[in-house]
Amino acid sequence: MSDARADLERMRRALAEVADLSAASALLHWDQETGMPRGAIDGRSEALATLASVIHAKAAAPELRDVLDRLLGDDGAAALDEDERAMVALAYRDYDRSSRLDDRLVRELAQSTSRAQAAWAEAREAARFSDFAPHLSRLLALKREVAERLGYDAHPLDALLDDYEIGMTVGSLEPMFASLAAGLRDLVARVVDSGVTLDDSPLLRSTPIEAQRAFAIEVATAMGFDFECGRLDVSAHPFTQKIHAGDVRLTWHAKESDLRPGLFAVVHEAGHGIYEQGLPRAWERTPLCEAASLGVHESQSRLWENAIARSEPFWRHFLPRLAARSTAFSDVSVDAMTRAANRVEPSFIRIEADELTYNLHVVLRFSIERDLFAGAISVADVPAAWNDRFAELLGVRPRNDREGCLQDIHWSMGGFGYFPTYALGNLYAAQLVRAADRDLGGLDALIARGELRPLTEWLREKVHRHGRRHKPAELIRRATGEAPSSRAFLDYVTAKYSELYRLA
Ligand code: ZN
Repeated sequence: MSDARADLERMRRALAEVADLSAASALLHWDQETGMPRGAIDGRSEALATLASVIHAKAAAPELRDVLDRLLGDDGAAALDEDERAMVALAYRDYDRSSRLDDRLVRELAQSTSRAQAAWAEAREAARFSDFAPHLSRLLALKREVAERLGYDAHPLDALLDDYEIGMTVGSLEPMFASLAAGLRDLVARVVDSGVTLDDSPLLRSTPIEAQRAFAIEVATAMGFDFECGRLDVSAHPFTQKIHAGDVRLTWHAKESDLRPGLFAVVHEAGHGIYEQGLPRAWERTPLCEAASLGVHESQSRLWENAIARSEPFWRHFLPRLAARSTAFSDVSVDAMTRAANRVEPSFIRIEADELTYNLHVVLRFSIERDLFAGAISVADVPAAWNDRFAELLGVRPRNDREGCLQDIHWSMGGFGYFPTYALGNLYAAQLVRAADRDLGGLDALIARGELRPLTEWLREKVHRHGRRHKPAELIRRATGEAPSSRAFLDYVTAKYSELYRLA
């Protein structure tokens, strides 16, 4: 075996250890959210902190750097195939980024975010931004320092965006979000002016949780989620936790009086879960067997949740199946169900927003993060900037900071640059659905027959099996023939909501 082959084995062994320890940490985290007794929190925090430091030490070990340096040299380039070179490049990128942050900065960030989260929860409760402002200032300063250390070309936020969406920059997001906001503002205004209100009561019929669970599992199974390699449990907020490829866990939180939080959450999380289950097994425990980005991950969940499970063909097939499990739905029509699932109403809280207004919430957050990092606005300006821009985008003005700039936890966790991935997920999803519809000769007919697997297989081929091999923009271009843009999404929502709201 050449030296380069031996080094590649060394690298893979080191990364596999990191992956296994991360799997153990993920399982502890999942348990904490689903079944851990209250009294276990202190012991669990210590166990997780110890694991985190062992993982960091292994991931940032100088021996790993030596191996990576040799593999990146001429010998490595000659002895490795294309996939292996991509694996080495990603491993080096991850190593380099974590080693640029020293111990002091990592510790200060951990302490400041943990204090900021507690302060944020109290400030939100009191609807008083000024209580949270000093923490936000502190985190902003630390994250600016992170950005300086990681490096960027044009805008400091670029360095942080890169953590969630490799290659995405403020400069590439701005035109995309500007056209998105302009198109959506216009469409939302026309929906509001139409005078039409969609009745959501068909989704508000009381249904036993067990029947909801059986139905949600039926839908997730039809989508292609493999329950032999996954499960569904209850947690306060729904999430997907991959332990490893053979163990992907979904959670949900159903409400007897409302089908929406349970069903659409399971469909959403199953979309995430199917992506995790479809990542390339041959590259397991390497950086190639990971999602391409948060935006691509979100595209997989939104696509199923919005474009499929809120569509008329979906309900044509699945409404009789729901009615078979709960008589509450026996007199509901497919049209009524479809309208109920697509009611639009400008509202203040992002996580409760409908498909049409949702992206405007994200555009707003991105503009504020961008201006904070550029120094164009100060922390003290945030509430006013938020409320003014919100009114401009959505036509209504938050009455207090709880409805406004204090609603999301992300900034208190230092998660600047995270929000754009939610909107990117919606844009990618629309592009993928359009391409799949073209390639498969029409999705509607398949969905109406309950044949969801062809779409899953298409996604496996175009997205899942590539893991983290391509940057997200390149992956989307290869899958759909087009670079990421807002056009497919605007076409999709314009067609869909024009019909639902009978717009001229
Ligand atoms: Zn999601």
